[in-house]
Amino acid sequence: MLAFTCDIDWAPEEVIADTLNIFEIFGVKCTLFSTHHSLELTKSNRKLFEIGIHPNFHPLLRGNSNTSYEDILDEILDIHPEAVGVRTHTMMQSVAILQKFSDKKLLYEANTFMPYQYGLKAFKLWNNMVRIPFNWEDDVHWAYGYSFEDARMEIDTDELVIFDFHPIHIYLNTENKYRYNEAKNYLSDPKKLLEYRNSEVPGTRDLLMNLLKRCNEKELTTHKLKDIAYTCLAEGLM
Ligand SMILES: [Zn+2]
Repeated sequence: MLAFTCDIDWAPEEVIADTLNIFEIFGVKCTLFSTHHSLELTKSNRKLFEIGIHPNFHPLLRGNSNTSYEDILDEILDIHPEAVGVRTHTMMQSVAILQKFSDKKLLYEANTFMPYQYGLKAFKLWNNMVRIPFNWEDDVHWAYGYSFEDARMEIDTDELVIFDFHPIHIYLNTENKYRYNEAKNYLSDPKKLLEYRNSEVPGTRDLLMNLLKRCNEKELTTHKLKDIAYTCLAEGLM
């Protein structure tokens, strides 16, 4: 089972549109974990795109927030009532948070990250939610110091392979943290951001395009995460 996901991380509309356009061109499915209201997401083609939520509980850890995890969750669910899946920003979770996800009738969570590992399986948790682990993320690829020439994951396989990209890194073709740190100051100015786009070495955008091209050439089936979750539950019932 092969799946692509994106954490929106407050990307501006032009940057989100750019990512959606790439998936549209190749006709590959993608699950989008949303942080905020976005017209681009709202009007996106649901044949290709699933919208999940990407709540940010991190301010609670800093102790300078007067909101609660329930309110943060309700706020993003109000924006995306169709969402059945969740991955939290910074992958923050706890048993209490998982329980709240289940209370809100969310079907699955995709917070467990096991970089470059094979043999992953979706499975049912004690609260009936499905846990869908994932094994690749753009910013972790450069944290390991790996080149974006190669994702280091097979895609033509029966294994569960789930990629996690960020629209901003697709837009910037990011290859290391230094590029992102410099561009960070212009997140609200997509034109200016283009000046920071990497064209020197393979980056996030190049790698994504290569993967999507190979999906097309090999006619690989891609899945939304909710379909992986439904399959997991159906198999459990047999
Ligand atoms: Zn995030």
